[in-house]
Amino acid sequence: MNNNGFQFQYDSRFVNELPGESIDDKRSRQTPGSCWSHCSPTSVSSPNTIAWFPEVADLLGITPQQMESPLSAQVFSGNHLVEGMYPYAACYGGHQFGHWAGQLGDGRAITLAEVLHNEHRWDIQLKGAGRTPYSRSADGRAVLRSSIREFLCSEAMFHLGIPTTRALSLVATGDSIVRDMFYDGHPEAEPGAIVCRVAPSFIRFGNFEILAARQELELLNQFIDFTIDRDFPHLVGKDERKRADWFKEICETTAHLMVEWQRVGFVHGVMNTDNLSILGLTIDYGPYGWLDNFDPNWTPNTTDAEGRRYAFANQPRIARWNLANLANTLASVMSDHDALRAGIEHYDATLQQEMSKMQSRKFGFKEELIDDSCIELINDAYKTMYHANMDFTLFFRRLAEVDIAHPSVECFNDVFYHEPKKQHKAELQQWLDAYSQRVIKEHDQQRVDRMNQTNPIFILRNYLSQQAIDRATEGDHSELHQLMDALKAPYTFNEQYQNYYHKRPQWAEHKAGCSMLSCSS
Ligand code: AMP
Ligand code: MG
Repeated sequence: MNNNGFQFQYDSRFVNELPGESIDDKRSRQTPGSCWSHCSPTSVSSPNTIAWFPEVADLLGITPQQMESPLSAQVFSGNHLVEGMYPYAACYGGHQFGHWAGQLGDGRAITLAEVLHNEHRWDIQLKGAGRTPYSRSADGRAVLRSSIREFLCSEAMFHLGIPTTRALSLVATGDSIVRDMFYDGHPEAEPGAIVCRVAPSFIRFGNFEILAARQELELLNQFIDFTIDRDFPHLVGKDERKRADWFKEICETTAHLMVEWQRVGFVHGVMNTDNLSILGLTIDYGPYGWLDNFDPNWTPNTTDAEGRRYAFANQPRIARWNLANLANTLASVMSDHDALRAGIEHYDATLQQEMSKMQSRKFGFKEELIDDSCIELINDAYKTMYHANMDFTLFFRRLAEVDIAHPSVECFNDVFYHEPKKQHKAELQQWLDAYSQRVIKEHDQQRVDRMNQTNPIFILRNYLSQQAIDRATEGDHSELHQLMDALKAPYTFNEQYQNYYHKRPQWAEHKAGCSMLSCSS
């Protein structure tokens, strides 16, 4: 088969500059001394491209004609390798739920190539393309439902302005795979799919951790130098100083990511160190979710329902825990431990500063005027939102609509999940009065615009994805395509998508996939 115009400029640094295994052997094993293992995707029976994002194709220099060609499903299912591709799975370890889990690695992700286009470099990676040496006892595959969720949410996050890996395509494999979705002894066959995801780097904290855990310190040094050189080319200076600056930057981008997740009510669900990107990108969309009713203790992940380690309000603290682990790893090859401590302090300071700026934007306060009374108003609002069972996203859109000369709780009628108690309505009215008085004093003509640019009207609520999944499972992709369009303008009211702007409907409260999710994927 020829390449039908698929052509890339390769920049295969990961495999050219780091040690790895060049024999394609998919048997599970430990891979000491290797950062990668050459591994070709395992063919699927009848790949069919269900959806793709033109903007992401454009990033890679792939034309719409190429994406629409019959070859595209072959390429993005892994059935056909474009000339020059050298697929590999990366080796990494990780702390899962607070405990060192040893070697993990790309168990079902295969990087097809590192490419350059318009002076940007991208890794092109398939998720669900079959077994790798890191698959352990699993099959290396992904089901349609989790693939749709990753495909949609990657781009939803991007359009919200939040750092993330991107999604190019969603290919149905034509094969079914067996999953026990509720881990309750009822395995079922489900349709399989493969997402092609794209990022400047898929390096995670865990890539470093595994090398330190194995005491492969020379290789750890090499890996750090490689990462800085490839993924942080703007950093200059001498070794230790440069590494200190590098760690500081990781702390800063991670703090920024946490603030952004808190801004839109995103809960990652599995913030293990193998799921934290060195570039501060949202990575590995699994049992993630979005706050419906405001509950700081909410987690979408059924596996975490008891401990709630990765619940909404814990995320910044967990990111710090993960950074401290990374610092420990780096300490094995860096003598300047103060620099590592300074990085963590920088995380704390950045988080605090950015969080307060973000909250003031959400509430429409002028950043430079923020004082204790604003902070009290912010805290009180969250308390009321929680007690009165209000929708986190809608609360802020309605707040921007309130007539501050005559504030009334009626504006919030569609924000409550249950008929509010009299006392909660009164509490909210009292709060609104105080809030309005405050913002009237600020005379800020830009307040409403700023709020609506900070507070999305569209978020990819779990029940919306689930509706698209249910339809797609029956072969109808229309809902999926509608969501792909709606997620592109999450801050702008669009009449066509009004139905997507409501709070979670009651039928979805306990339906599988609509509130809590298992890790089964
Ligand atoms: P996650 O919690 O999804 O980030 O995955 C943790 C580890 O399990 C990673 O090393 C994954 O590659 C691996 N993994 C998850 N699902 C599968 C699967 N179906 N086949 C092979 N490996 C998997
Ligand atoms: Mg992962």
